[in-house]
Amino acid sequence: SSPVSENNNSSTMAPIEVQQYDYIVLGGGSGGSGSARRAAGWYGAKTLIVESGRSGGTCVNVGCVPKKMTWNFATINETLEIGKHYGYDIPENIKKDYTHFKNTRDAVIKRLNGVYENNWSREGIDLVHGRARFVEPKVIEVANIDGSVSRYAAPHILIATGGRPNIPKVAVVGAGYIAVELAGVMNASDVETHMFIRGEHFLRKFDPMVQKTMTDRYDAAGVKLHRNHSGFKEVQLIRDGKGKDRLIKLISHDGSELEVNELLWAVGRAPEVEDLQIDIPGIKLNPSGHIGVDEYQNTSVEGVYALGDVTGQAELTPVAIAAGRQLGNRIFGPPELKTSKLSYENIPTVVFSHPEVGVVGLTEPEARERYGDDKIKIYHTKFTAMYYSVCTPEEKAKNPTEMKIICAGPTEKVVGLHILGLGVGEMLQGFGVAVKMGATKQDFDSCVAIHPTSAEELVTMQ
Ligand code: FAD
Ligand code: NDP
Repeated sequence: SSPVSENNNSSTMAPIEVQQYDYIVLGGGSGGSGSARRAAGWYGAKTLIVESGRSGGTCVNVGCVPKKMTWNFATINETLEIGKHYGYDIPENIKKDYTHFKNTRDAVIKRLNGVYENNWSREGIDLVHGRARFVEPKVIEVANIDGSVSRYAAPHILIATGGRPNIPKVAVVGAGYIAVELAGVMNASDVETHMFIRGEHFLRKFDPMVQKTMTDRYDAAGVKLHRNHSGFKEVQLIRDGKGKDRLIKLISHDGSELEVNELLWAVGRAPEVEDLQIDIPGIKLNPSGHIGVDEYQNTSVEGVYALGDVTGQAELTPVAIAAGRQLGNRIFGPPELKTSKLSYENIPTVVFSHPEVGVVGLTEPEARERYGDDKIKIYHTKFTAMYYSVCTPEEKAKNPTEMKIICAGPTEKVVGLHILGLGVGEMLQGFGVAVKMGATKQDFDSCVAIHPTSAEELVTMQ
């Protein structure tokens, strides 16, 4: 440790001791943890994680984990409905104990917070809880919970501070991952659910097949869709309280009004850079406000890196983890890993909607633009999964399975795969490997089908 002179950014006047590390990681979420563990656990780098919130970041505390558990809760409700067709004597209006579910979910998250911290401690990573900011290009100051500050320096500093929800000026429910997933779980849990979307369809960055089928499916499943909605001119809190006691009035620009108990903002997320004082090292932002990085996660300042949601590159947990590990390899690993980097091509992703949507590669419009209409061949199928064969025609219509394979060039290389239906989330991972390896339609077809499954359609499609 070495004392450094005070500067204007400090909240005390006494010299503050600076503790020296090999690697400082700002943010103990997916990316930060992945990179810190690679650096410390594999390569013995003296590593510090600074985390201002709960360990594990967005994914563990407010993202993937609580979301997927809530999705499971809603899916069980759907399964009970289908169970009746298989001969189960399931009473109407089975009581759901939301408090029990929430307590169970909270306990799982709390356990995971501990798992993260145990892993860090086992690998010799120091953890400081507090809000970090730059006070010199390679010196970080952390405001501790007790009001004191501490300072840390390292030749390598990673910014993995993630993002936070955009708070819009007008109240509009969005049409992306979060809006679709959470509207899906609420509707499937028998909550009257209204979705306000700006366009005709939601998931507008996805393939047109996904947009249309999923929006129509939500409509059929009872979600009250307000398409082409131009926003609210006013949101009034009529009555404060919890649950059904709270009443919010939404007044749209066309004058229509709706009273609801909860209003969910899901119109995208913004990078969490606010308190970091990134102007001190001089880190440049993209026009979108995200930290600008090259393909090796270098920022504009040597020795300062960024990855995960704060960079806006494919905002997914496994992407942040993988980028973090590659960065750890590159900085602290053996010479043969000095050019390690994450390939951002063909990243598979799943929307945990009802039903799930799985995607890897290009959408049809993207493929046509990249390769030209005459170089593209589309394979498409839509059917009812055997699981739903016992259902009424209306229920079958509510539970489609649809698949599209987009092929390019004379070899029919698979450049896009879009699947929706029961179980596609699990299905996609293996097909993702095939697409990543450059599989052609012929490769798909040469794999013998597994029967009876929905996935077999992917290797038999004509
Ligand atoms: P984060 O995990 O957000 O970690 C950043 C950490 O930095 C946070 O813990 C924060 O407290 C801390 N921090 C911020 N500023 C400071 C500071 N100045 N000093 C110290 N610490 C700081 N992805 C999937 O792959 N699958 C899913 O199913 C999925 N579901 C999601 C559902 C929701 C509702 C949301 C919001 C996201 C979901 N995601 C999902 C996305 C995923 O959670 C993120 O892509 C991922 O967590 C990003 O990791 P990260 O390391 O970049 O940031
Ligand atoms: P998204 O970027 O997915 O979607 C936000 C949507 O909100 C846009 O697509 C847009 O749709 C709509 N929107 C934007 N501005 C407005 C506005 N002013 N008024 C009305 N609608 C607006 O963001 P999310 O917040 O849903 O999720 C953030 C990220 O987290 C995702 O992109 C994803 O990477 C990650 N995530 C991943 C999950 C998974 O892997 N399963 C689950 C949840 C999140 P339009 O243009 O059609 O109006």
